[in-house]
Amino acid sequence: MRIKFILPALTEATSPFFRPVKYSLFPPLGLATLAAFCAPDDELTLVDEHVEKLRLDDDPELVVIQVYITNAYRAYEIADCYRARGCAVAMGGLHVTSLPDEAAQHADAVCLGPGEEVFPHLLADARAGRLQPRYVAQTRTLLGVPPIRRDLIRRALYLVPNSIVVTRGCPHHCDFCYKDAFFASGKGFYTQTVDAALAEIERLPGRHLYFLDDHLLGHQRFARELFVGMRGMRRLFQGASTVDAILRGDTIELAAKAGLRSIFIGFESLSTANLEGANKTQNLRHSYKRAIARLHELGIAINGSFVFGLDDDRDDVFDRTVDWAVTQGLTTATFHIATPYPGTAYFQRIEAQGRLLHRDWRRYDTRQAVFVPKHLSPAALERGYWRAYRDFYRWTNILQSASRGGSVAHRLRRFAYAAGWKRFEPLWDFLIRTRQLASMLPLLETILNRPEPTASSAPMVGAQEDL
Ligand code: SF4
Repeated sequence: MRIKFILPALTEATSPFFRPVKYSLFPPLGLATLAAFCAPDDELTLVDEHVEKLRLDDDPELVVIQVYITNAYRAYEIADCYRARGCAVAMGGLHVTSLPDEAAQHADAVCLGPGEEVFPHLLADARAGRLQPRYVAQTRTLLGVPPIRRDLIRRALYLVPNSIVVTRGCPHHCDFCYKDAFFASGKGFYTQTVDAALAEIERLPGRHLYFLDDHLLGHQRFARELFVGMRGMRRLFQGASTVDAILRGDTIELAAKAGLRSIFIGFESLSTANLEGANKTQNLRHSYKRAIARLHELGIAINGSFVFGLDDDRDDVFDRTVDWAVTQGLTTATFHIATPYPGTAYFQRIEAQGRLLHRDWRRYDTRQAVFVPKHLSPAALERGYWRAYRDFYRWTNILQSASRGGSVAHRLRRFAYAAGWKRFEPLWDFLIRTRQLASMLPLLETILNRPEPTASSAPMVGAQEDL
């Protein structure tokens, strides 16, 4: 069977002002995971429109499209085009799961929830010519999932070709998070076996890995066994965690020993009222400062994520957040405008309060205000958001932030990482457009590399929380 897997580009990618670096980081692992269920004699193609041109003049028998909110209209355009020519189209992903009736107008079949469970059934039905209109994942397991078809990925087009996911979902339920809608009909958090995860790591060349898991430390026993198993593999890796997990037990030390060099943390807000309002309980009653100090001592750089526009935010939130992030020595910061994604509790609340401005999904990109904030105008929220980025990445702030916490070598590495990432964005764009991105991977590995922490440098904070 001829099967084409497509990750459509969000609409702005067609603009000459498009900054491609954010979308050239990671290959479309989800689609490559589904491709693994195909038969050896199936003819497969996988196209990521963010990094390569999509042809629409071919004639696959089945088109599988991954949809997220800002690429939804482009996805529908592509689907309509193929269906008009008689090709069967299946769609899945976060946006399809949130709004299946909208997506179903453009597809022969929609998949709700994680694809691993339902895709084999969908494939069998497609072969038999009796696709069902809707497939809903109910049970949750990663047992028996075949190895990802990484051979379909054009590695040279991505800065981080070695991205990997070893868990699904997250044990928490922040009310603005898209993933709750995605996992609504079953278990919301589960893992691969440790052996399967280690085998997947073994298959990846080079040293650098990026774990795209929502919460790599979310299942402590799994995470600990994984990190112990990774010791001696000489990997350097990045991943995401929460404040409470960093302070719990010594899992973060095991991660550092296994090669963790940079971590993404959703601090979201410095306001307790905002955290409570968003059900971000894992950040409450845990000291951000202690978590940060612990990471600095272990030589782990921090990418802090913050949301602006929650109900307790006023005019001063932007400057206060940037000052705090710089003072704490965060290496990079990711700012977002609060965005009520359909299917979330946050969306329901904002909609019920009549504060939604529109449903133009292209603009639900966390850079535009799509609702009326409580104490700010939408325009002030957008201005503050852009100013926060500008201020955080001023040379003076990069220097100041890098000078806080950890060893001299750790500070130098953080400076190189932050400066390289944000201050040289035009260079990244040039490398992407000239297809030389892969040549930068050794540089990234050099920046992240460092000697193993010595026993005397291991911090003691958090030991009382082992219980
Ligand atoms: S911790 Fe992150 S991934 Fe988990 S529910 Fe909250 S926002 Fe979502």
